[in-house]
Amino acid sequence: MKLAIVGRPNVGKSTLFNRLVGKKIALVDDQPGVTRDRKMAEGRLASLPLSLIDTAGFENVKDDSLEARMRAQTEAAIAEADLVLFLVDARVGVTPEDETFAALLRKANLPVVLAANKAEGRAGEAGVFDAFSLGFGEPVGLSAEHGEGMAELYDAIRNAL
Ligand code: GDP
Ligand code: MG
Repeated sequence: MKLAIVGRPNVGKSTLFNRLVGKKIALVDDQPGVTRDRKMAEGRLASLPLSLIDTAGFENVKDDSLEARMRAQTEAAIAEADLVLFLVDARVGVTPEDETFAALLRKANLPVVLAANKAEGRAGEAGVFDAFSLGFGEPVGLSAEHGEGMAELYDAIRNAL
């Protein structure tokens, strides 16, 4: 099963990718928008083997606006993946970029699981709830950094397949 992790810069895609792969392959960066390559690796979530696609980067997109990069990211995910994991930041809440992604993903004929990352502690609760507004059902509250919400993510992925 090929799973593409999609979302705007800095939501924690690479952190989650690394956690599921069990190795630090993707470069985690505090600065959004820094050059990163798209990475693919074999990982697993409990008993479920996953081919993971971290869709950051796309520096070679001709028009390098954020919107163009988001579109390229989404198109690559649609071309390659069986399922999209759409990641948002529970501490920031839903942004216009998240809404752009949501609109692009809605047009794709692909199952989407929505997760709100950085949801550890009280600070994340409101942001997880906020993500309901994106229209992909109940968001999974996650902490890629602390390994929280992985059982809920597993259930959501199994239900979406
Ligand atoms: P990407 O741009 O979406 O790939 O995001 P990164 O994985 O590079 O992470 C961006 C920043 O968010 C880094 O500083 C991470 O350490 C931080 N981060 C990732 N996951 C979590 C999390 O679960 N909780 C918190 N508090 N920070 C996180
Ligand atoms: Mg990244």
